Amino acid sequence: MYEGGCLCGSIRFEITGPIHNIVYCHCSQCRKAQGGAFATNGIVMASDFKILTGAKALTGYQSTPGQTKYFCKTCGSPILSKTQSRPGQVRVRLGTIDSDISERPMAHIFVTSKATWEEITGDLPQYEAYETDRDAL
Ligand SMILES: [Zn+2]
Ligand SMILES: [Zn+2]
Repeated sequence: MYEGGCLCGSIRFEITGPIHNIVYCHCSQCRKAQGGAFATNGIVMASDFKILTGAKALTGYQSTPGQTKYFCKTCGSPILSKTQSRPGQVRVRLGTIDSDISERPMAHIFVTSKATWEEITGDLPQYEAYETDRDAL
């Protein structure tokens, strides 16, 4: 079981199952949503994700049709996103998790959209869009 929350502490959540398909996403939307060079996202079954406190502080922005990013309206911490076509899943921003997690990132994605000032290092595979060998969930 993993626990996490936002910067101001209003929102706390728990994850009772595994985190799948962890990636560093360098797309322009993730960069803007995080204010950084990339977002680190992992997929959690919606049934394994539970808001413990602060559900009212969570607000959403539809960044593309059918996809909404949810963040704390007080401190702005990006918590998760939901895609209409995959109602059984949520995509969690791993930087908001406080627990040690056993899963590890498996790829860099949307590397063609990366910031010009960023240099991607390390041995993880890099993809122009989503990983071609992403686990189907
Ligand atoms: Zn907050
Ligand atoms: Zn992205």
